[in-house]
Amino acid sequence: MGSSSIIVYVPPVLFGLVALTFLVLWQQKIVTNWQWGAGFAQTALGFSLSTFPIEPTFDAFTSGMIFIGAAYCYSSAVFEHFQARSYDRERQWFVITYTLLLGYFVFGLQSLRYQLFLTDIGFACLVGMALVSAFSKARRNADRWLVASIGLVFVDTVARAVYFFFHTDGSDNFSDFVDSAYNLAVHVTTITICMAFPFSALVATGVAALERHREAAELDPLTSLFNRRGFEAALGGDGTVEGAVLVCDIDHFKQINDTLGHAAGDAVIAAVADIMRQVSGDDAVTARFGGEEFVVFLPGRKLPEALIAGERVRQTVCEKDWRFFGLTHAVTVSIGIDFVRDGERDPHAAIARADRALYAAKSAGRNRVFEAGNKASATQLASA
Ligand code: GH3
Ligand code: MG
Ligand code: MG
Repeated sequence: MGSSSIIVYVPPVLFGLVALTFLVLWQQKIVTNWQWGAGFAQTALGFSLSTFPIEPTFDAFTSGMIFIGAAYCYSSAVFEHFQARSYDRERQWFVITYTLLLGYFVFGLQSLRYQLFLTDIGFACLVGMALVSAFSKARRNADRWLVASIGLVFVDTVARAVYFFFHTDGSDNFSDFVDSAYNLAVHVTTITICMAFPFSALVATGVAALERHREAAELDPLTSLFNRRGFEAALGGDGTVEGAVLVCDIDHFKQINDTLGHAAGDAVIAAVADIMRQVSGDDAVTARFGGEEFVVFLPGRKLPEALIAGERVRQTVCEKDWRFFGLTHAVTVSIGIDFVRDGERDPHAAIARADRALYAAKSAGRNRVFEAGNKASATQLASA
């Protein structure tokens, strides 16, 4: 394959464009690591080396180092993407050993076959490590596509290494590399099969970035509960409207802010949020609607169960030891409760009724659970 063939320009241009895309996304803080961009840039550079004539031995060693550098970056990026252990020390020792062997094969043995075999196997080992760690962690479709495309790159690299090392007897001379069947095979499989890898990486990192931003937009940073937008989104998802709602507000919270400061107030809000989360259970949709007001939707739950949950929240908050927060008296909450009535398509009306019940609970002296219609809960009446 002569350098006049258009095919040699395709991989460096495509990988170069993908590298640039990744580096811009990284610079914009949309992609969280620079290793994707660096990996694809090195791959582009490695391919571009074969498009212009340079000293063959130097070319062989440099390409060998560039491709292992690319594989190192890819594996780092994949470990980070899947939040897997990155085996940095082991990979660094691997690259050091590889470098020594590469130097021996290129400058000692002066064997093109050994150099290509080593580079392919070294590349496959690092990419294979990433593949193994990502395999069980891919949840999203975009991640599964990424894993599949890494698998393709792995199989392509190993198959080529084995085929050209064991089954052909082409030239072993560095100066014959550019026109070799091996070089043609690399270009053809890279353009046809392996381009799935950069594009799947782009999609997977893009989807992950969108998900991170959506989470940030739907969660309250102080309590990690849903905010109002997250609450609506969580309810909209499964179409269930049957259930009960609790609306909860901390009593005399302004006093806490005024006497202990805003930071202590924040800590109290976070602690009450923890209690709401624990008491409400895993299927509950719990949100901070602003200030020190919380809303909980209990799917499928009827009024008596909601009253029990509300009473448990009230009691747990009231009985908590608040001295650690600098408080000399207990924090209390008032809670209003109602359920989604027949014919209602969402819990908004129930929330409005529970909110009115909350204000009735406040007027009745606070630290109480009221159901809509201004009736105190059964437990409240029993303890009164
Ligand atoms: P009540 O028993 O009637 O509820 O009395 P209250 O003092 O709790 O009154 P209210 O619920 O209206 O108080 C809300 C206060 O919460 C007012 C505001 O300064 C404070 N606040 C709102 N958001 C935050 C926050 O994020 N952090 C802190 N520390 N305070 C907040
Ligand atoms: Mg309040
Ligand atoms: Mg309030």
